[in-house]
Amino acid sequence: MLFSGLKWWTSRSLWIHRLHYGINGGGKARYSSCSPKVCIVGGGPAGFYTAQHLIKARPDVAVDVYERLPVPFGLVRFGVAPDHPEVKNVINTFTQTARHERCSFYGNVNVGKDVSVEELREAYHAVVLSYGAEGNRRMGVPGEDLSGVYSAKDFVGWYNGLPSCRELGPDLSCETAVILGQGNVALDVARVLLSPIDFLKKTDITQPALEALEASRVRRVLIVGRRGPTQIAGTIKEIREMVNLPNTRPDMLAADFEGVKESLQDLPRPRKRLTELMLKAALETPGEKEQERREKATKVWGLRFYRSPVEILADPERSGRTAGIRLAVNKLEGSGEGARAVLTGEVEDVTCGLVISSIGYKSLPIDASVPFDSRRAIVPNHMGRIQEAPGLYCSGWLKTGPTGVIATTLNNSFDTARSVMEDMESGTLNTTGVKLGSQSINALLENRGVKPVTFSEWEKIDSEEVRRGEAIGKPREKLLTVEEMLQVAGK
Ligand code: FAD
Repeated sequence: MLFSGLKWWTSRSLWIHRLHYGINGGGKARYSSCSPKVCIVGGGPAGFYTAQHLIKARPDVAVDVYERLPVPFGLVRFGVAPDHPEVKNVINTFTQTARHERCSFYGNVNVGKDVSVEELREAYHAVVLSYGAEGNRRMGVPGEDLSGVYSAKDFVGWYNGLPSCRELGPDLSCETAVILGQGNVALDVARVLLSPIDFLKKTDITQPALEALEASRVRRVLIVGRRGPTQIAGTIKEIREMVNLPNTRPDMLAADFEGVKESLQDLPRPRKRLTELMLKAALETPGEKEQERREKATKVWGLRFYRSPVEILADPERSGRTAGIRLAVNKLEGSGEGARAVLTGEVEDVTCGLVISSIGYKSLPIDASVPFDSRRAIVPNHMGRIQEAPGLYCSGWLKTGPTGVIATTLNNSFDTARSVMEDMESGTLNTTGVKLGSQSINALLENRGVKPVTFSEWEKIDSEEVRRGEAIGKPREKLLTVEEMLQVAGK
Protein backbone atom coordinates (compact mmCIF):
# COMPACT_ATOMS: atom_id res chain seq x y z
CA MET A 1 0.00 0.00 0.00
CA LEU A 2 2.77 2.33 1.10
CA PHE A 3 4.79 1.29 -2.01
CA SER A 4 1.92 1.86 -4.46
CA GLY A 5 1.19 5.21 -2.80
CA LEU A 6 4.81 6.21 -3.22
CA LYS A 7 4.75 5.07 -6.85
CA TRP A 8 1.62 7.13 -7.49
CA TRP A 9 3.23 10.17 -5.88
CA THR A 10 6.47 9.70 -7.83
CA SER A 11 4.79 9.29 -11.18
CA ARG A 12 2.44 12.22 -10.44
CA SER A 13 5.34 14.52 -9.55
CA LEU A 14 7.26 13.27 -12.59
CA TRP A 15 4.24 14.07 -14.72
CA ILE A 16 3.97 17.56 -13.22
CA HIS A 17 7.70 18.06 -13.70
CA ARG A 18 7.46 16.99 -17.35
CA LEU A 19 4.48 19.23 -17.91
CA HIS A 20 6.41 22.19 -16.59
CA TYR A 21 9.87 21.46 -17.94
CA GLY A 22 9.28 18.93 -20.69
CA ILE A 23 11.61 16.04 -21.43
CA ASN A 24 13.14 15.95 -24.85
CA GLY A 25 14.07 12.92 -26.96
CA GLY A 26 17.54 12.86 -25.43
CA GLY A 27 16.08 12.40 -21.93
CA LYS A 28 17.10 15.90 -20.77
CA ALA A 29 14.89 18.45 -19.10
CA ARG A 30 13.57 20.71 -21.83
CA TYR A 31 13.47 23.52 -19.32
CA SER A 32 10.57 25.68 -18.59
CA SER A 33 8.51 26.63 -21.60
CA CYS A 34 9.13 30.28 -20.68
CA SER A 35 12.95 30.03 -20.53
CA PRO A 36 14.77 31.69 -23.44
CA LYS A 37 15.49 29.08 -26.11
CA VAL A 38 18.46 29.40 -28.41
CA CYS A 39 19.15 27.22 -31.41
CA ILE A 40 22.64 26.75 -32.81
CA VAL A 41 23.23 25.49 -36.34
CA GLY A 42 26.48 23.52 -36.59
CA GLY A 43 28.18 21.32 -34.02
CA GLY A 44 31.77 22.46 -34.61
CA PRO A 45 33.93 24.60 -32.29
CA ALA A 46 31.90 27.75 -32.97
CA GLY A 47 28.62 26.00 -32.13
CA PHE A 48 29.91 24.48 -28.91
CA TYR A 49 31.77 27.60 -27.75
CA THR A 50 28.68 29.74 -28.36
CA ALA A 51 26.55 27.24 -26.44
CA GLN A 52 29.09 27.06 -23.60
CA HIS A 53 29.15 30.81 -23.11
CA LEU A 54 25.38 31.19 -23.23
CA ILE A 55 24.78 28.41 -20.72
CA LYS A 56 27.44 29.70 -18.37
CA ALA A 57 26.39 33.33 -18.50
CA ARG A 58 22.67 32.83 -17.93
CA PRO A 59 21.13 30.25 -15.65
CA ASP A 60 17.86 30.12 -17.57
CA VAL A 61 18.91 29.80 -21.23
CA ALA A 62 18.41 26.44 -22.94
CA VAL A 63 20.44 25.67 -26.06
CA ASP A 64 19.85 23.11 -28.82
CA VAL A 65 22.64 22.35 -31.30
CA TYR A 66 21.62 21.01 -34.73
CA GLU A 67 24.38 19.34 -36.74
CA ARG A 68 24.25 18.03 -40.31
CA LEU A 69 26.30 14.91 -39.62
CA PRO A 70 25.44 12.23 -37.06
CA VAL A 71 28.76 13.03 -35.35
CA PRO A 72 29.79 16.31 -33.67
CA PHE A 73 32.90 18.55 -33.55
CA GLY A 74 33.22 19.73 -37.18
CA LEU A 75 36.80 20.37 -38.29
CA VAL A 76 38.24 19.18 -34.99
CA ARG A 77 37.26 15.72 -36.18
CA PHE A 78 37.46 16.23 -39.96
CA GLY A 79 40.15 18.90 -40.37
CA VAL A 80 42.79 18.83 -37.62
CA ALA A 81 45.69 16.61 -38.67
CA PRO A 82 45.68 13.07 -37.26
CA ASP A 83 49.19 13.55 -35.85
CA HIS A 84 48.03 16.54 -33.78
CA PRO A 85 45.96 14.69 -31.14
CA GLU A 86 46.65 17.36 -28.51
CA VAL A 87 44.63 19.87 -30.55
CA LYS A 88 41.63 17.55 -30.33
CA ASN A 89 41.54 17.79 -26.53
CA VAL A 90 39.00 20.61 -26.94
CA ILE A 91 36.52 17.79 -27.56
CA ASN A 92 36.47 17.21 -23.79
CA THR A 93 35.17 20.74 -23.21
CA PHE A 94 32.59 20.38 -26.00
CA THR A 95 31.45 17.09 -24.46
CA GLN A 96 30.93 18.75 -21.09
CA THR A 97 28.82 21.41 -22.77
CA ALA A 98 26.79 18.84 -24.72
CA ARG A 99 26.10 16.86 -21.54
CA HIS A 100 24.91 19.95 -19.68
CA GLU A 101 21.28 19.65 -18.67
CA ARG A 102 20.44 22.83 -20.59
CA CYS A 103 22.13 21.74 -23.82
CA SER A 104 20.85 19.20 -26.34
CA PHE A 105 22.57 17.95 -29.46
CA TYR A 106 20.69 16.82 -32.56
CA GLY A 107 22.98 15.34 -35.18
CA ASN A 108 21.92 14.14 -38.64
CA VAL A 109 19.84 17.29 -39.19
CA ASN A 110 20.75 19.22 -42.32
CA VAL A 111 19.52 22.77 -41.78
CA GLY A 112 18.38 24.36 -45.04
CA LYS A 113 17.20 20.96 -46.25
CA ASP A 114 15.57 18.97 -43.41
CA VAL A 115 14.38 22.10 -41.66
CA SER A 116 14.52 25.72 -42.77
CA VAL A 117 16.07 28.62 -40.91
CA GLU A 118 12.62 30.26 -40.92
CA GLU A 119 11.17 27.25 -39.09
CA LEU A 120 13.97 27.42 -36.53
CA ARG A 121 13.32 31.13 -36.02
CA GLU A 122 9.66 30.34 -35.39
CA ALA A 123 10.57 27.74 -32.77
CA TYR A 124 13.34 29.61 -30.92
CA HIS A 125 13.89 33.06 -29.46
CA ALA A 126 17.31 33.23 -31.14
CA VAL A 127 19.10 31.27 -33.84
CA VAL A 128 22.91 31.29 -34.13
CA LEU A 129 24.32 30.07 -37.44
CA SER A 130 27.71 28.39 -36.91
CA TYR A 131 27.88 26.07 -39.85
CA GLY A 132 31.45 26.85 -40.85
CA ALA A 133 33.01 27.09 -44.29
CA GLU A 134 32.44 23.90 -46.20
CA GLY A 135 33.04 25.26 -49.70
CA ASN A 136 36.26 25.31 -51.56
CA ARG A 137 38.03 28.18 -53.32
CA ARG A 138 38.84 27.23 -56.90
CA MET A 139 42.14 28.20 -58.52
CA GLY A 140 40.42 29.30 -61.71
CA VAL A 141 43.13 27.97 -64.03
CA PRO A 142 42.85 25.65 -67.03
CA GLY A 143 43.29 21.98 -66.20
CA GLU A 144 41.92 22.34 -62.68
CA ASP A 145 39.53 19.44 -63.26
CA LEU A 146 42.13 16.97 -64.53
CA SER A 147 42.48 13.78 -62.58
CA GLY A 148 45.31 14.07 -60.08
CA VAL A 149 44.16 17.56 -58.98
CA TYR A 150 42.45 17.74 -55.59
CA SER A 151 41.43 20.42 -53.16
CA ALA A 152 43.14 20.24 -49.77
CA LYS A 153 39.64 20.30 -48.31
CA ASP A 154 38.78 16.99 -49.99
CA PHE A 155 42.21 15.48 -49.41
CA VAL A 156 42.07 16.32 -45.69
CA GLY A 157 38.46 15.08 -45.54
CA TRP A 158 39.60 11.82 -47.14
CA TYR A 159 42.36 11.03 -44.65
CA ASN A 160 40.19 12.20 -41.74
CA GLY A 161 37.14 10.10 -42.62
CA LEU A 162 34.65 12.75 -43.82
CA PRO A 163 31.87 10.60 -45.34
CA SER A 164 31.52 12.78 -48.48
CA CYS A 165 35.25 12.29 -49.27
CA ARG A 166 35.38 8.53 -48.72
CA GLU A 167 35.48 7.75 -52.43
CA LEU A 168 38.21 10.29 -53.29
CA GLY A 169 40.87 7.59 -53.82
CA PRO A 170 43.72 10.00 -54.65
CA ASP A 171 46.27 8.62 -57.07
CA LEU A 172 49.57 8.57 -55.18
CA SER A 173 51.50 6.71 -57.87
CA CYS A 174 53.64 9.71 -58.93
CA GLU A 175 56.92 10.88 -57.50
CA THR A 176 56.29 14.62 -57.14
CA ALA A 177 53.32 16.35 -55.53
CA VAL A 178 52.79 20.11 -55.72
CA ILE A 179 50.74 21.81 -53.02
CA LEU A 180 49.48 25.29 -53.85
CA GLY A 181 49.27 27.52 -50.80
CA GLN A 182 51.57 27.75 -47.80
CA GLY A 183 49.18 27.91 -44.85
CA ASN A 184 48.99 25.37 -42.04
CA VAL A 185 46.53 23.20 -43.98
CA ALA A 186 49.06 22.94 -46.84
CA LEU A 187 51.77 22.01 -44.35
CA ASP A 188 49.48 19.40 -42.72
CA VAL A 189 48.93 17.81 -46.14
CA ALA A 190 52.66 17.83 -46.93
CA ARG A 191 53.46 16.21 -43.59
CA VAL A 192 50.83 13.51 -44.03
CA LEU A 193 52.14 12.75 -47.54
CA LEU A 194 55.71 12.36 -46.29
CA SER A 195 55.33 11.00 -42.75
CA PRO A 196 56.70 7.57 -41.95
CA ILE A 197 53.82 5.08 -41.97
CA ASP A 198 54.76 3.83 -38.50
CA PHE A 199 54.01 7.35 -37.19
CA LEU A 200 50.64 7.55 -38.88
CA LYS A 201 49.66 4.03 -37.78
CA LYS A 202 49.37 5.29 -34.21
CA THR A 203 46.98 8.13 -35.12
CA ASP A 204 43.27 8.20 -35.93
CA ILE A 205 43.93 8.50 -39.68
CA THR A 206 41.49 6.22 -41.49
CA GLN A 207 42.62 2.72 -42.42
CA PRO A 208 41.98 3.19 -46.20
CA ALA A 209 44.09 6.38 -46.15
CA LEU A 210 46.82 4.61 -44.23
CA GLU A 211 46.90 1.80 -46.78
CA ALA A 212 47.01 4.25 -49.70
CA LEU A 213 49.83 6.21 -48.05
CA GLU A 214 51.73 3.00 -47.37
CA ALA A 215 51.60 2.20 -51.09
CA SER A 216 52.29 5.83 -52.08
CA ARG A 217 55.21 6.55 -54.40
CA VAL A 218 55.28 10.26 -53.60
CA ARG A 219 58.85 11.16 -52.64
CA ARG A 220 58.98 14.89 -53.23
CA VAL A 221 56.52 17.54 -52.09
CA LEU A 222 56.78 21.18 -53.16
CA ILE A 223 54.74 23.74 -51.24
CA VAL A 224 54.18 26.76 -53.44
CA GLY A 225 53.30 30.32 -52.44
CA ARG A 226 52.60 33.52 -54.38
CA ARG A 227 54.72 35.75 -52.20
CA GLY A 228 58.05 35.54 -50.35
CA PRO A 229 59.41 33.84 -47.22
CA THR A 230 58.49 36.79 -45.01
CA GLN A 231 54.84 36.57 -46.07
CA ILE A 232 54.37 32.80 -45.58
CA ALA A 233 51.03 31.98 -43.93
CA GLY A 234 52.14 28.80 -42.12
CA THR A 235 53.29 29.04 -38.51
CA ILE A 236 56.57 28.07 -36.87
CA LYS A 237 55.21 24.88 -35.28
CA GLU A 238 54.25 23.43 -38.66
CA ILE A 239 57.50 24.53 -40.38
CA ARG A 240 59.52 23.04 -37.52
CA GLU A 241 57.63 19.79 -37.94
CA MET A 242 58.69 19.73 -41.60
CA VAL A 243 62.30 20.47 -40.71
CA ASN A 244 62.31 17.59 -38.20
CA LEU A 245 60.27 15.12 -40.24
CA PRO A 246 62.17 11.81 -40.22
CA ASN A 247 63.52 10.47 -43.50
CA THR A 248 63.11 13.82 -45.28
CA ARG A 249 65.43 16.63 -46.25
CA PRO A 250 64.64 20.19 -47.27
CA ASP A 251 65.16 21.33 -50.84
CA MET A 252 64.85 25.10 -51.22
CA LEU A 253 65.95 27.61 -53.84
CA ALA A 254 68.61 29.97 -52.55
CA ALA A 255 67.30 32.63 -54.97
CA ASP A 256 63.96 32.71 -53.09
CA PHE A 257 65.82 33.92 -49.99
CA GLU A 258 67.77 36.77 -51.59
CA GLY A 259 67.72 39.82 -49.32
CA VAL A 260 65.73 37.99 -46.64
CA LYS A 261 68.55 37.90 -44.11
CA GLU A 262 68.93 41.67 -44.38
CA SER A 263 65.22 42.23 -43.70
CA LEU A 264 65.17 40.12 -40.51
CA GLN A 265 65.74 43.05 -38.16
CA ASP A 266 62.53 44.76 -39.31
CA LEU A 267 60.30 41.76 -38.71
CA PRO A 268 58.06 41.32 -35.68
CA ARG A 269 59.45 38.67 -33.33
CA PRO A 270 57.27 35.63 -34.22
CA ARG A 271 57.81 36.18 -37.96
CA LYS A 272 61.51 36.77 -37.41
CA ARG A 273 61.88 33.40 -35.66
CA LEU A 274 59.91 31.66 -38.39
CA THR A 275 62.03 33.28 -41.12
CA GLU A 276 65.27 32.37 -39.32
CA LEU A 277 64.13 28.75 -39.20
CA MET A 278 63.46 28.72 -42.96
CA LEU A 279 66.76 30.47 -43.70
CA LYS A 280 68.59 27.87 -41.66
CA ALA A 281 66.93 25.00 -43.54
CA ALA A 282 67.49 26.70 -46.91
CA LEU A 283 70.95 28.21 -46.75
CA GLU A 284 73.04 27.04 -43.81
CA THR A 285 75.47 24.15 -44.11
CA PRO A 286 74.11 21.62 -41.65
CA GLY A 287 76.15 20.18 -38.79
CA GLU A 288 77.57 16.69 -39.09
CA LYS A 289 74.62 14.88 -37.53
CA GLU A 290 72.04 16.77 -39.58
CA GLN A 291 74.15 16.28 -42.71
CA GLU A 292 74.13 12.54 -42.08
CA ARG A 293 70.39 12.55 -41.48
CA ARG A 294 69.79 14.43 -44.74
CA GLU A 295 72.03 12.10 -46.73
CA LYS A 296 70.07 9.08 -45.56
CA ALA A 297 66.68 10.69 -46.28
CA THR A 298 64.72 9.18 -49.16
CA LYS A 299 62.08 11.90 -49.30
CA VAL A 300 62.27 15.63 -50.04
CA TRP A 301 60.16 18.65 -49.19
CA GLY A 302 60.62 22.18 -50.44
CA LEU A 303 59.04 25.58 -50.13
CA ARG A 304 58.77 27.46 -53.42
CA PHE A 305 58.15 31.19 -53.23
CA TYR A 306 57.05 33.87 -55.73
CA ARG A 307 55.06 31.40 -57.85
CA SER A 308 51.37 31.28 -58.87
CA PRO A 309 49.56 28.56 -60.82
CA VAL A 310 48.86 29.37 -64.46
CA GLU A 311 47.75 26.01 -65.79
CA ILE A 312 47.65 22.35 -64.82
CA LEU A 313 49.32 20.48 -67.65
CA ALA A 314 47.67 17.37 -69.09
CA ASP A 315 49.60 14.19 -69.75
CA PRO A 316 49.76 13.76 -73.55
CA GLU A 317 49.95 9.99 -73.13
CA ARG A 318 47.32 9.43 -70.45
CA SER A 319 44.24 11.38 -71.35
CA GLY A 320 42.71 13.41 -68.57
CA ARG A 321 45.68 12.94 -66.22
CA THR A 322 47.93 15.59 -64.72
CA ALA A 323 51.54 15.61 -65.84
CA GLY A 324 52.69 18.90 -64.42
CA ILE A 325 51.94 22.47 -63.51
CA ARG A 326 52.87 25.76 -65.14
CA LEU A 327 53.79 28.40 -62.60
CA ALA A 328 54.09 32.13 -63.17
CA VAL A 329 57.12 33.72 -61.53
CA ASN A 330 56.20 36.73 -59.42
CA LYS A 331 57.98 39.65 -57.84
CA LEU A 332 56.85 41.63 -54.85
CA GLU A 333 55.55 45.15 -54.82
CA GLY A 334 55.79 46.73 -51.39
CA SER A 335 57.05 44.95 -48.31
CA GLY A 336 55.89 43.23 -45.14
CA GLU A 337 52.47 41.68 -44.68
CA GLY A 338 50.90 44.00 -47.26
CA ALA A 339 53.32 43.19 -50.11
CA ARG A 340 51.62 42.28 -53.39
CA ALA A 341 52.70 39.57 -55.84
CA VAL A 342 52.90 40.85 -59.41
CA LEU A 343 53.69 38.81 -62.49
CA THR A 344 57.13 39.10 -64.07
CA GLY A 345 55.96 37.52 -67.33
CA GLU A 346 58.26 34.55 -66.79
CA VAL A 347 56.80 31.05 -66.37
CA GLU A 348 58.23 27.67 -65.43
CA ASP A 349 56.90 24.12 -65.65
CA VAL A 350 57.18 21.57 -62.87
CA THR A 351 56.63 17.88 -63.61
CA CYS A 352 54.24 16.32 -61.10
CA GLY A 353 51.39 13.81 -61.00
CA LEU A 354 49.56 15.22 -58.00
CA VAL A 355 48.40 18.81 -57.43
CA ILE A 356 46.65 19.76 -54.21
CA SER A 357 45.23 23.26 -54.02
CA SER A 358 45.19 24.64 -50.52
CA ILE A 359 44.09 28.18 -51.19
CA GLY A 360 41.27 28.35 -48.70
CA TYR A 361 37.85 27.26 -47.63
CA LYS A 362 34.70 29.36 -48.07
CA SER A 363 31.26 29.49 -46.51
CA LEU A 364 28.22 28.73 -48.62
CA PRO A 365 24.64 29.96 -48.27
CA ILE A 366 22.36 27.21 -46.86
CA ASP A 367 19.03 28.99 -46.86
CA ALA A 368 17.70 31.68 -49.19
CA SER A 369 16.13 33.56 -46.28
CA VAL A 370 19.53 34.36 -44.73
CA PRO A 371 21.49 37.38 -46.04
CA PHE A 372 24.76 36.26 -47.63
CA ASP A 373 27.70 38.27 -48.95
CA SER A 374 28.85 36.15 -51.92
CA ARG A 375 31.95 38.25 -52.52
CA ARG A 376 33.33 37.83 -49.02
CA ALA A 377 31.61 34.43 -48.57
CA ILE A 378 30.32 35.27 -45.10
CA VAL A 379 27.00 36.21 -43.56
CA PRO A 380 27.14 40.02 -43.17
CA ASN A 381 27.07 40.76 -39.47
CA HIS A 382 27.98 43.21 -36.79
CA MET A 383 29.45 41.54 -33.68
CA GLY A 384 27.63 38.37 -34.72
CA ARG A 385 24.26 40.08 -35.23
CA ILE A 386 23.05 39.36 -38.74
CA GLN A 387 21.98 42.56 -40.37
CA GLU A 388 18.29 42.96 -41.17
CA ALA A 389 17.39 39.75 -39.36
CA PRO A 390 16.57 40.33 -35.67
CA GLY A 391 17.05 37.20 -33.56
CA LEU A 392 19.49 35.73 -36.09
CA TYR A 393 23.23 35.58 -35.25
CA CYS A 394 26.38 33.93 -36.53
CA SER A 395 29.68 32.73 -35.11
CA GLY A 396 32.85 30.93 -36.15
CA TRP A 397 34.14 30.75 -39.69
CA LEU A 398 30.76 31.70 -41.11
CA LYS A 399 31.07 34.99 -39.27
CA THR A 400 34.72 35.84 -39.92
CA GLY A 401 35.68 33.86 -42.98
CA PRO A 402 37.89 30.76 -42.80
CA THR A 403 40.88 32.14 -40.95
CA GLY A 404 42.37 31.55 -37.56
CA VAL A 405 42.73 28.65 -35.21
CA ILE A 406 40.36 27.14 -32.68
CA ALA A 407 41.30 29.80 -30.11
CA THR A 408 40.27 32.52 -32.59
CA THR A 409 36.97 30.72 -33.10
CA LEU A 410 36.50 30.57 -29.32
CA ASN A 411 36.90 34.34 -29.01
CA ASN A 412 34.58 35.22 -31.85
CA SER A 413 31.97 32.73 -30.62
CA PHE A 414 32.06 34.16 -27.10
CA ASP A 415 31.59 37.63 -28.68
CA THR A 416 28.48 36.42 -30.50
CA ALA A 417 27.12 34.83 -27.30
CA ARG A 418 27.66 38.20 -25.58
CA SER A 419 25.68 39.94 -28.33
CA VAL A 420 22.80 37.48 -27.84
CA MET A 421 22.79 38.10 -24.10
CA GLU A 422 23.02 41.87 -24.45
CA ASP A 423 20.01 41.75 -26.77
CA MET A 424 18.10 39.57 -24.31
CA GLU A 425 18.87 41.96 -21.49
CA SER A 426 18.11 45.13 -23.45
CA GLY A 427 14.85 43.66 -24.74
CA THR A 428 15.95 44.01 -28.39
CA LEU A 429 15.48 40.27 -28.44
CA ASN A 430 12.00 39.50 -27.18
CA THR A 431 12.12 36.43 -24.96
CA THR A 432 8.76 36.93 -23.28
CA GLY A 433 6.71 34.87 -25.74
CA VAL A 434 6.58 31.10 -25.33
CA LYS A 435 8.61 29.17 -27.88
CA LEU A 436 8.45 25.41 -28.22
CA GLY A 437 12.04 24.85 -29.36
CA SER A 438 13.00 21.25 -30.10
CA GLN A 439 9.50 20.04 -29.28
CA SER A 440 8.13 21.60 -32.47
CA ILE A 441 11.27 20.99 -34.55
CA ASN A 442 11.40 17.30 -33.61
CA ALA A 443 7.76 16.93 -34.63
CA LEU A 444 8.57 18.52 -38.02
CA LEU A 445 11.60 16.27 -38.45
CA GLU A 446 9.63 13.16 -37.56
CA ASN A 447 7.02 14.03 -40.20
CA ARG A 448 9.85 14.40 -42.72
CA GLY A 449 11.40 11.04 -41.83
CA VAL A 450 14.57 12.62 -40.34
CA LYS A 451 16.03 10.81 -37.34
CA PRO A 452 18.13 13.10 -35.16
CA VAL A 453 21.09 11.57 -33.34
CA THR A 454 21.30 12.67 -29.71
CA PHE A 455 24.59 13.18 -27.87
CA SER A 456 24.23 9.89 -25.97
CA GLU A 457 23.70 8.17 -29.32
CA TRP A 458 26.89 9.83 -30.61
CA GLU A 459 28.61 8.40 -27.54
CA LYS A 460 27.68 4.93 -28.79
CA ILE A 461 29.41 5.76 -32.11
CA ASP A 462 32.37 7.12 -30.17
CA SER A 463 32.70 3.92 -28.09
CA GLU A 464 32.51 1.76 -31.19
CA GLU A 465 35.20 3.82 -32.95
CA VAL A 466 37.48 3.65 -29.93
CA ARG A 467 36.89 -0.12 -29.64
CA ARG A 468 37.75 -0.65 -33.32
CA GLY A 469 40.83 1.54 -32.97
CA GLU A 470 42.12 -0.23 -29.86
CA ALA A 471 41.97 -3.54 -31.70
CA ILE A 472 44.62 -2.26 -34.14
CA GLY A 473 46.66 -0.01 -31.85
CA LYS A 474 45.04 3.30 -32.84
CA PRO A 475 43.19 5.83 -30.67
CA ARG A 476 40.09 5.32 -32.83
CA GLU A 477 39.00 3.95 -36.16
CA LYS A 478 36.36 6.29 -37.56
CA LEU A 479 33.14 5.03 -39.11
CA LEU A 480 33.22 6.17 -42.71
CA THR A 481 29.60 6.31 -43.82
CA VAL A 482 26.54 8.08 -42.48
CA GLU A 483 24.62 4.79 -42.81
CA GLU A 484 27.00 2.95 -40.51
CA MET A 485 27.03 5.84 -38.04
CA LEU A 486 23.22 5.75 -37.89
CA GLN A 487 23.20 2.00 -37.50
CA VAL A 488 25.66 2.09 -34.59
CA ALA A 489 23.67 4.96 -33.05
CA GLY A 490 20.67 2.62 -33.11
CA LYS A 491 18.67 4.58 -35.69
P1 FAD B 1 33.52 23.90 -38.43
O1 FAD B 1 34.54 23.28 -37.58
O2 FAD B 1 33.58 23.63 -39.90
O3 FAD B 1 32.08 23.44 -37.90
C1 FAD B 1 30.91 23.67 -38.63
C2 FAD B 1 29.91 22.54 -38.36
O4 FAD B 1 28.67 22.87 -39.00
C3 FAD B 1 30.34 21.21 -38.94
O5 FAD B 1 30.24 20.21 -37.96
C4 FAD B 1 29.37 20.97 -40.09
O6 FAD B 1 29.09 19.59 -40.32
C5 FAD B 1 28.13 21.71 -39.59
N1 FAD B 1 27.22 22.09 -40.67
C6 FAD B 1 27.54 22.49 -41.93
N2 FAD B 1 26.43 22.74 -42.66
C7 FAD B 1 25.39 22.48 -41.85
C8 FAD B 1 23.97 22.51 -42.02
N3 FAD B 1 23.44 22.89 -43.19
N4 FAD B 1 23.19 22.15 -40.99
C9 FAD B 1 23.73 21.77 -39.79
N5 FAD B 1 25.06 21.72 -39.58
C10 FAD B 1 25.88 22.07 -40.58
N6 FAD B 1 42.85 25.02 -35.64
C11 FAD B 1 43.71 24.80 -34.62
O7 FAD B 1 43.65 25.49 -33.60
N7 FAD B 1 44.65 23.81 -34.69
C12 FAD B 1 44.77 22.99 -35.79
O8 FAD B 1 45.63 22.10 -35.83
C13 FAD B 1 43.86 23.20 -36.86
N8 FAD B 1 43.92 22.42 -37.96
C14 FAD B 1 43.06 22.65 -38.98
C15 FAD B 1 43.15 21.85 -40.11
C16 FAD B 1 42.31 22.06 -41.19
C17 FAD B 1 42.44 21.20 -42.42
C18 FAD B 1 41.36 23.11 -41.13
C19 FAD B 1 40.46 23.38 -42.31
C20 FAD B 1 41.26 23.91 -40.01
C21 FAD B 1 42.10 23.69 -38.92
N9 FAD B 1 42.04 24.48 -37.78
C22 FAD B 1 42.90 24.25 -36.74
C23 FAD B 1 41.03 25.58 -37.65
C24 FAD B 1 39.76 25.12 -36.91
O9 FAD B 1 39.39 23.86 -37.39
C25 FAD B 1 38.66 26.16 -37.10
O10 FAD B 1 39.07 27.34 -36.43
C26 FAD B 1 37.31 25.74 -36.52
O11 FAD B 1 36.98 24.41 -36.82
C27 FAD B 1 36.17 26.64 -37.06
O12 FAD B 1 35.01 26.28 -36.38
P2 FAD B 1 33.53 26.41 -36.97
O13 FAD B 1 32.64 25.82 -35.94
O14 FAD B 1 33.31 27.79 -37.45
O15 FAD B 1 33.51 25.48 -38.30
